[in-house]
Amino acid sequence: MRKVIVSGAAGFLGSYLVKQLIQQGEEVIGIDNLSSGLMSNLSEVLNHPRFNFLLADVSDKEAITDLYQEKVKEIYHLASQASPKFYQANPFETMKVNTQGTFNLLELARDKEAKFLYTSTSEAYGDPEVHPQPESYRGNVNTWGPRACYDEAKRLGEVICYEFYERYGVAVKVARIFNTYSAGLRNDDGRVISNFVTQALAGEDITVYGDGSQTRSFCYVDDNIRGLQLMMKYDEANGEIINIGNPVEYSVLNVAYMIKQMTQSESKIVFYPLPKDDPKVRRPDINKAQNILGWDPVISLAEGLQITINKYNETLVQIHP
Ligand code: UDP
Repeated sequence: MRKVIVSGAAGFLGSYLVKQLIQQGEEVIGIDNLSSGLMSNLSEVLNHPRFNFLLADVSDKEAITDLYQEKVKEIYHLASQASPKFYQANPFETMKVNTQGTFNLLELARDKEAKFLYTSTSEAYGDPEVHPQPESYRGNVNTWGPRACYDEAKRLGEVICYEFYERYGVAVKVARIFNTYSAGLRNDDGRVISNFVTQALAGEDITVYGDGSQTRSFCYVDDNIRGLQLMMKYDEANGEIINIGNPVEYSVLNVAYMIKQMTQSESKIVFYPLPKDDPKVRRPDINKAQNILGWDPVISLAEGLQITINKYNETLVQIHP
């Protein structure tokens, strides 16, 4: 049976994807260097006979040579720091994994005639001047700022994908992922929903950056994973960049109020300075995903937040019974 490789397997999206693939009967090799991923994310599948874990950095070609011995049908390249807090703490690693790491895995895909999905980002649009953002919008990224190491590395990762598609005919697909959430994010991930939910449940101040008028569109993890799998499945997605995100937009302040109300928290909402280059708006145009994949997110923010809050609550009860 030909195998599916997932890089970033111990990360938030990677671990969800691995569990889904195992459930679907696939043989999976998960790779992670554990720079931000957690082995605990994989505890359900670690001893599964159809799962193998490789502790390796995909930026290091030598570390992944054993994969050339495997029969591989699909490669999902998710490995990268993704939270601003983490990628800004590790800019060079972030650039390497999205460029050299992408190149190394694409070489493997070419050798194995495997399908290849690269997870790029809505950050490819930077602080967008076109709203909502279709894939054809070329973006407004500052190369000289704290977000550039991620944004530009992902953009160069897309270029490498393009060349492997055009030159070598590798079945490459690029997903531009918009903000995605669920309880699987690390408590210290630093992103807005994990921060607000953990703060609200602990009765701590809810930290809104800026005045909270900046917007984001939040996709629940199950919808996201379904979208990525459809991209992998459909040949029509070969050589295409496709936005995967929920098109319903909320201000950050609105999300703070929603979470405070849903958790019945006494927390105060407090305001901190807005980080540099923080995009003011973000919302995907998902026409392409709808047309090519027949994909639409089905889980609303209210539903997704409720599941997330319940799960975080269970974890807190386990820690502080
Ligand atoms: N944000 C916030 N408080 C937090 C964490 C984030 O107000 O505790 C804001 C952040 O400034 C941004 C938005 O929420 O405007 C989403 O931030 P996140 O780090 O989740 O992801 P981004 O979309 O910036 O990559």
